[in-house]
Amino acid sequence: MKILVMGAGVIGVTTAYQLLKDGHEVAVVERRESAGEETSAGNAGLIAPGHAYAWSSPAAPGILLKSLFRADQALRFRLRPDPHLWAWSFKFLRQCTAERARVNTLRKHRLCLYSQDQLHRVVAETGVAYDAQDGGLLYLYRDPARFAQAAVKAEILSEDGQEMEVIDVARAIRIDPALAPARDKLAGAIFCPTDESGDSRLFTQGLAAACEGLGGRFHYGTTIRRLALAGDRVEKVVTDKGVFQAEAYVLALGCDSPILARQLGVKLPIYPIKGYSVTVPAAAGGLAPRIGGVDEDNLVAYVRMGARLRITATAEFAGYDLSHKPDDFRHMLAAVKDLIPAGGDFDRPSYRACLRPMTPEGTPIFGLGRQTNLYFNSGHGHMGWTMACGAARIAADLVAGRTPAIDLAGMTLR
Ligand SMILES: Cc1cc2nc3c(=O)[nH]c(=O)nc-3n(C[C@H](O)[C@H](O)[C@H](O)COP(=O)(O)OP(=O)(O)OC[C@H]3O[C@@H](n4cnc5c(N)ncnc54)[C@H](O)[C@@H]3O)c2cc1C
Repeated sequence: MKILVMGAGVIGVTTAYQLLKDGHEVAVVERRESAGEETSAGNAGLIAPGHAYAWSSPAAPGILLKSLFRADQALRFRLRPDPHLWAWSFKFLRQCTAERARVNTLRKHRLCLYSQDQLHRVVAETGVAYDAQDGGLLYLYRDPARFAQAAVKAEILSEDGQEMEVIDVARAIRIDPALAPARDKLAGAIFCPTDESGDSRLFTQGLAAACEGLGGRFHYGTTIRRLALAGDRVEKVVTDKGVFQAEAYVLALGCDSPILARQLGVKLPIYPIKGYSVTVPAAAGGLAPRIGGVDEDNLVAYVRMGARLRITATAEFAGYDLSHKPDDFRHMLAAVKDLIPAGGDFDRPSYRACLRPMTPEGTPIFGLGRQTNLYFNSGHGHMGWTMACGAARIAADLVAGRTPAIDLAGMTLR
């Protein structure tokens, strides 16, 4: 079948790869000059089924409310005259019961585990290089009470098959000696030995090249303006570089998916949640972190990506605004410097802001909406790099009329 994939982020490119493997004729349309240049370029790089907790939880409404009244660096919720924000927030609050949090966490976790397995297959098949780092991730706690709560919370994932170890500080330092300077600042950690990390932009670009090798065609520098319908089908995609036609279409535009879908009368409950990402040169000689981690008290993630150290933080409700200033990064740089003071050259930062395509549940949206040949693979939120390869396989299965390997309850519109 002739298929057009819209968007060449990590989701669009992994989808194109799976469709090509199924023998389809695949073209990809992307407004940037290469693949993986938007959100997929700035994320923390964590491949983290061990961190698949739903953001919507009984604690979340209180945290959002508090952030309205203080200049919090980690969460910045502001009421704006934006009907999409209001609608999304209402749906998010409805997910904040203990039972919904449990269901959403387990759905996310199963997709993440499936996806990690698919990632390993794709890497074995293509040999794509992406500064991959296995050997686990460390979720670090400074406050003893929060650490004790985290150990209890971890049970939901460990009962669902995730390897998780509740460890003391000495063991955390044995696992990653770069944390030695933080000995007196930490209460303990959760170690997920099977979690890993890597640069999703490198991966996306390498996989796009592999797709071209399989016959996929990439139309970069091409902005989609609208989708034209004929009855209940998408007939063509209108771009600034002309018209594209296919038998089936996959919408993988990250935070832009709901904008295009709205034109067709389809409401995708996806809202952009801004994050900040700074990359510095990693220190040589074993001073940089060996594996990635999260400073859970400050909600700051850090990951070694080859010769670079990536640090990300903050969830800000700022619409589609991508602006940033050095002060936005102050808190996250300070948190990581406090843990790993010699881990990188913090005076040579490269700043970026990017948008998480979040659904209220934290799970993505698959399958068809109103149109019979328009498939969604959108809304992977704060875990799209972890979910990408599994989500792509699911999208290709749905296009082929096959039953996906995992249950999609709560992840479809129909
Ligand atoms: C700060 C931060 C940290 C994160 N950390 C992690 C992490 O550690 N682990 C993890 O798993 N996930 C993480 N994520 C989430 C992850 O990065 C995203 O879920 C993922 O990148 C989404 O991929 P995507 O392909 O859907 O979107 P994108 O990468 O944004 O791709 C969408 C593509 O569509 C293109 N596009 C949009 N509109 C048009 C148009 N009209 N015409 C043509 N092209 C268009 C864009 O140019 C873009 O290339 C993080 C996100 C943020 C913001």
